[in-house]
Amino acid sequence: MTDDASADDDRAVPTVSCERCGREWDLDREIDGLDPGGHAVEQFAIDHERHTGHYPDDVTPWIARCERCPDGERFLAERPARRWARTHARHANHPVRLEAPRGDDDLVAPDGDRDGS
Ligand SMILES: [Zn+2]
Ligand SMILES: [Zn+2]
Repeated sequence: MTDDASADDDRAVPTVSCERCGREWDLDREIDGLDPGGHAVEQFAIDHERHTGHYPDDVTPWIARCERCPDGERFLAERPARRWARTHARHANHPVRLEAPRGDDDLVAPDGDRDGS
């Protein structure tokens, strides 16, 4: 049995939409030479934020925000966000709040490696 509308065509092409811009991008075409998947989406999101000041839909950054000074950074993955928080906490001796995309905040204390490494 063959169906002409084969499911082979249904490969995962990462698409990103942005409600604020009212646009949608097909990353397979927009970004050449990058692996489709996470990296393209991340790269696109970073680029988009750089140009417009906001992230596309479905992209929620990790936000590392110092409790004591205006320093802070946004990241698209936990690991670099956590690393930034630890580094800043250690160097500046400031506690850094880590806001997770799903809402469970964490506080990185200057002297604490409390969740190991
Ligand atoms: Zn946008
Ligand atoms: Zn600080």
